[in-house]
Amino acid sequence: MSARDDGKGFKGNKRDLPSKPCAVCGRPMVWRRAWAKNWDSVRYCSDACRARKNAS
Ligand SMILES: [Zn+2]
Repeated sequence: MSARDDGKGFKGNKRDLPSKPCAVCGRPMVWRRAWAKNWDSVRYCSDACRARKNAS
């Protein structure tokens, strides 16, 4: 078992990761490990965009 396989290292091409546009700014969000559990519910690229959506 290799210790290099844990953490944030991806062996594959980053472009193989899923992505989708932010619901507020439209910038593409590339899949992040932190979102693995809730990728389907991630809609904003950042807290700033989430706040902007809730504002107004
Ligand atoms: Zn955004």
